[in-house]
Amino acid sequence: MAQQDEVFKKIVSHAKEYGFVFQSSEIYDGLSAVYDYGQNGVELKNNIKRYWWDSMTLLHENIVGIDSAIFMHPTIWKASGHVDAFNDPLIDNRDSKKRYRADVLIEEEIAKIEDKIEKEVAKARKRFGESFDEALYRQTNPRVAEYAAKRDALHERFAQAMNDNNLEELRQIIIDQEIVCPISGTRNWTEVRQFNLMFRTEMGSTADGAMTVYLRPETAQGIFVNYLNVQKTGRMRIPFGIAQIGKAFRNEIVARQFIFRMREFEQMEMQFFVRPGEELKWFATWKEWRLKWHKALGLGDEKYRYHDHEKLAHYANAATDIEFQMPFGFKEVEGIHSRTNFDLSQHEKFSGKNIKYFDPELGESYVPYVIETSIGVDRMFLSVLCSSYEEQKLDNGETRVVLHLPAALAPVKCAVMPLVRKDGLPEKAREIVNDLKFDFSTHYDEKDSIGKRYRRQDAIGTPYCITVDHQTLEDNTVTLRHRDSMEQTRVNVADLHKLIHDNVSLNSLLRKLA
Ligand code: ATP
Repeated sequence: MAQQDEVFKKIVSHAKEYGFVFQSSEIYDGLSAVYDYGQNGVELKNNIKRYWWDSMTLLHENIVGIDSAIFMHPTIWKASGHVDAFNDPLIDNRDSKKRYRADVLIEEEIAKIEDKIEKEVAKARKRFGESFDEALYRQTNPRVAEYAAKRDALHERFAQAMNDNNLEELRQIIIDQEIVCPISGTRNWTEVRQFNLMFRTEMGSTADGAMTVYLRPETAQGIFVNYLNVQKTGRMRIPFGIAQIGKAFRNEIVARQFIFRMREFEQMEMQFFVRPGEELKWFATWKEWRLKWHKALGLGDEKYRYHDHEKLAHYANAATDIEFQMPFGFKEVEGIHSRTNFDLSQHEKFSGKNIKYFDPELGESYVPYVIETSIGVDRMFLSVLCSSYEEQKLDNGETRVVLHLPAALAPVKCAVMPLVRKDGLPEKAREIVNDLKFDFSTHYDEKDSIGKRYRRQDAIGTPYCITVDHQTLEDNTVTLRHRDSMEQTRVNVADLHKLIHDNVSLNSLLRKLA
């Protein structure tokens, strides 16, 4: 774990050093859990968003996009349940004065027991070598069985307490498990309290006429309250979907792990409207489609897993997370929820407007059921960054830091470099840039040795470096260097465009999904 912490620290500082992510308001000592994206970060982020957006709106003729406002009528949040129930249970340690999420403390305790099981299995694997039957060992080893029973009992007690909203029981679990504060090392805990995560502000100029409004904690409600506008003006027929990318805000109690948990972040959400009774079929379909979208990036199939929810949110009848293996463990990147007709029915009730859909095939009106896919842009960014980062030992004893970003997501697609800054090579290189720049984000770089320039591009994940040398002036060929293999091939300038395009275009990624 310590080694992974080390790697994560390096990734965070790499992200800063190479213009991916900066702490917000850094010169004022920062603002907790708020981050800015730098020149490379914004490109990577935009590419992730484009991949998602196109996969939704281009590949599905029944999905369209919208862009709704961040501010919405405050009654929307009353109707959706966020004013009353968008809470996290918090607990303070009296000695360190540190605040924690009670549910997270218990989840971490469960993860610790799981770690112990995995350690036992790893030890046995080493001991038995090739003949190791892992499944059998997990079933029959008494120590593993003991840990598993402990984990299951704790899990059940925890799920029950969460389902019942039983704050005293959550505290009791923390006491019984002898969970200590990682800072003070003591068990001097306060009561558990509920804390609402929505930011509020005031709209209107006069003090008594002002209205409390909220910064949206999810983008979904903007889709719900517009679904009939889109359906009618777009002549959509169920099943159909509405996609949206936008900022969301949550006053997270504990904000840690870099851009994993932020107070201002971005979501990519799609609500898919279906007939009542068909929601679980669509839930299963979207669960599969969304994992396929992730896996198409080639970050490693083994890095993903589903986590089906036992405690369902107040609106859901099925829910799963897609988790990704971050350096700090498997963590949620995306949620897929069957939200029933809860939100739309609530809006019908609170607004007093009829927002039913008339189904021409059935000849009847109903409130549609909704499957939601909700993914955090920033968490997606983090998973791409973490899985791409490598400190690679080279044959010559040197180390290079390389980001093996999926080529379609890389901030810069190619860098063009004159071997020397004379003899007409810079001019030729500029000529190539001026041709490629209309289709690809292209860098021109003439500073430092060619080796240093390659390293700089490796560090930001540029898939191709194109080197212009004296031979180029004679036969119009250049060296094309591939980031991952560092292989160099001689290619004709006239072929560059196609070669690059075939590997870096979003198109090639999207085709894997079709
Ligand atoms: P968590 O349990 O980690 O708090 P959640 O279950 O509350 O997440 P959802 O409400 O399902 O998250 O939100 C959908 C997605 O939005 C999440 O899968 C995640 O990618 C992203 N997200 C939610 N909260 C944050 C946050 N504070 N910072 C960054 N991304 C977030």
